[in-house]
Amino acid sequence: MNTDVNDLFSPELLDLRDQASAVAADVLLPTAEHTDATGEWPKAAMQALAKQRLTGLTVPKCLGGHGQGLVALAAVTEVLGQACAATAMCYGMHCVATAVIAAKSTAHHDARYLRPIAQGDHLTTLALSESGTGSNFFLPQTVLEREGNGYRLRGTKQFVTNGGAVDSYVVSTLASDASENGEFSCIVLDHDTPAMHWGEQWRGLGMRGNSSRSLKLDGAVAPLGNLLGDEGDQVWYVFEIVAPFFLTAMAATYLGVARAALDVTLAHLQARRHTHSGQSLSEIETVQHRVGQLWIGVERSRLLLLHAARAGDMGRDDAMTAILACKADAANTAVTTTNEAMTLCGGIAYRENSTLSRLLRDARASHVMSPTTDLLTIWTGRSALGLSLL
Ligand SMILES: Cc1cc2nc3c(=O)[nH]c(=O)nc-3n(C[C@H](O)[C@H](O)[C@H](O)COP(=O)(O)OP(=O)(O)OC[C@H]3O[C@@H](n4cnc5c(N)ncnc54)[C@H](O)[C@@H]3O)c2cc1C
Repeated sequence: MNTDVNDLFSPELLDLRDQASAVAADVLLPTAEHTDATGEWPKAAMQALAKQRLTGLTVPKCLGGHGQGLVALAAVTEVLGQACAATAMCYGMHCVATAVIAAKSTAHHDARYLRPIAQGDHLTTLALSESGTGSNFFLPQTVLEREGNGYRLRGTKQFVTNGGAVDSYVVSTLASDASENGEFSCIVLDHDTPAMHWGEQWRGLGMRGNSSRSLKLDGAVAPLGNLLGDEGDQVWYVFEIVAPFFLTAMAATYLGVARAALDVTLAHLQARRHTHSGQSLSEIETVQHRVGQLWIGVERSRLLLLHAARAGDMGRDDAMTAILACKADAANTAVTTTNEAMTLCGGIAYRENSTLSRLLRDARASHVMSPTTDLLTIWTGRSALGLSLL
């Protein structure tokens, strides 16, 4: 990191970040182009993170995990996002779903999910969004019915990151006794549950390895013990756990994208020299001004993200405003930085399969992934005004 924020990090977190940097350099960076070109889920990268037990980041220490919170999620995911945004998103969604399972876990959840996750033997993810309610990801229409010793699920999820590739799925549903809109539940489904049907492979503009597929639940049955919390708890999960962890992970992913674009740009501007003047592009004042603006944007976003994550970890009353703002801000920074970087690096960058082309396409997912930038900006305003978000 450029800005000296290391004093915010414990020695344990610095060590975790170093481990993540090593995996990013050894596995994510060399495979990022392949992941983008083929759209294949980044299996080798996710396995390397699991082998290092970084996938146990948000599992409580008493269950063998690292017991880390939002600051750690921000630090680790940014490093990964700099190397391969699609992998960072897959990793981030795993960590968010893990935090959801851990929030009110039972002995069954600990043994079946959290301990294996801590050991690097289990990956999970979050399936909230549905085509009917779109970006209103907190309004599932998937139905949960109580049936004997289990729950039967019917409905269709869309854009499930890590879809078809991981061991379990945290799914949001209408609670089985929902009497009015707003009573929802969360439940874990194992990957081999019958009556789970995956849609086509994800063919995104960017984030191409994240395997963001649709999932039809055609009467899939989960044991009663797989319910998370109590029936009707989903709104609590969405705003108390999903929102802080998801927004932090996504802000860090997009910050990593912005940082990577800035690094590519700095290197290019220093190396590229015109023969007629003998001058490098970095010596041109307009270029210096534009780089200055990009640097300010990236560092400002990083500090807002770390401030928000720290406030969240400390449980401060005003944390939510900053957490909502940090993903909106990181999205704007990623889109602006990659777009400007494309201009500054000129014709060499404006070719198919250049690193900047991948970063630009990856960055564009930030505005459409819910909560969208518009929605988050409204929610930031509502939160600052002391109004409820919905
Ligand atoms: C790469 C990627 C990965 C994803 N991963 C996951 C995942 O792992 N799990 C998951 O549950 N979901 C995931 N999603 C889904 C995502 O969070 C959104 O739910 C989804 O993108 C919404 O798409 P939509 O076209 O149905 O949105 P729509 O609701 O149709 O919205 C389309 C656009 O309309 C505008 N709009 C809609 N409502 C409003 C409003 N109230 N105010 C202002 N503008 C509005 C916005 O510009 C919005 O982008 C992912 C999406 C992408 C692109």
